[in-house]
Amino acid sequence: MASRAVVIGPWEYADDAGVPRYEEIGISAAQYGKVLADNPMWGEDRCRVLTKEEVDTADGVMAALEEEAGRTGAGDVFLVVYVGHGAYWGDVPGAEVHFSVGSSYDGKPWTWLSSWYLYRAMRLCRADLKVLIADCCYSNMLPHLGNGLDTLPGVFDDAGQGTCVLTALKDDNIRAWPLGCTELPGELAKCTPFSGHLLDVLQRGTTDYRPHITLGLLRDAVVSEMRRCRFDHDKPRMLLNDARESRALFTNRMDAALREPHPGSPVSAKEWVAALLRGNGCDLEELLQDPRKTGEVVALLRTSSREGAAAIAQHLEERASALFRSHDFARYWNKAERALRA
Ligand SMILES: [Zn+2]
Repeated sequence: MASRAVVIGPWEYADDAGVPRYEEIGISAAQYGKVLADNPMWGEDRCRVLTKEEVDTADGVMAALEEEAGRTGAGDVFLVVYVGHGAYWGDVPGAEVHFSVGSSYDGKPWTWLSSWYLYRAMRLCRADLKVLIADCCYSNMLPHLGNGLDTLPGVFDDAGQGTCVLTALKDDNIRAWPLGCTELPGELAKCTPFSGHLLDVLQRGTTDYRPHITLGLLRDAVVSEMRRCRFDHDKPRMLLNDARESRALFTNRMDAALREPHPGSPVSAKEWVAALLRGNGCDLEELLQDPRKTGEVVALLRTSSREGAAAIAQHLEERASALFRSHDFARYWNKAERALRA
């Protein structure tokens, strides 16, 4: 079992469909694939960008969704990204937002995929966190996913379970702007603005001290980047149902040295040494994210005459040599070497 991501991005329609083609949709879908493949929490094997043939029909999309949902289990994340056209008809049974597929026609609701079916497949899947990212018109009208647990006998809430729906639109804004944002770098400038900014956050990471982009961080970073952009973008929205804001969804790609320090934790190597010697409950994992500083701390501890310093230094050395790969080890060793030889 493993976390799985499915990216659905139909952008080519029949000539007489009356549904506009935006290349931004196809480029966004491809970029989701690329950015997820590069993210250590995901990787190429866990992300499936549906092919043109698959997104041509509701059947193709649902078959792929069910297949990937079936590969998830307890502890996993099931992430579905939809980027494309959205529509809404109030006069069809159980009015729901509808997503386009390649064979959709303007004004013909039966040729579109009701979001209800997509929600159903997500609710039934066994992953304990289910996340839908929807970049389309009317996405503000998508409801939360529910937690789906009532359909799974024997599965109990352990607080790690829940759902999240992140949409390009909020409130009463029903039309999503499809054309790219020129403020974004490279290919991301050719994506839809919401997906472009979201992918930019994932690609660059955030300066927050945490090593992962959590649900809450993702929402806050995308909202603030879009607000900060010189173009007047739509406002995104996140609906959570039981899912914790602190739940990690992506690796934070920002270099640890460029991230803000943990609030209340030591900053300089000297402060670390003082805190370690005091026996304060400091987070060694945070120190170990910075090989150079870890080396400095080891060096200071080795030359300290304070009681317990040698034992802490030894523990750190063991952790460091087990953890750091060649490049990081060089940074660490460069700082720690002199003290270790003494
Ligand atoms: Zn922008």
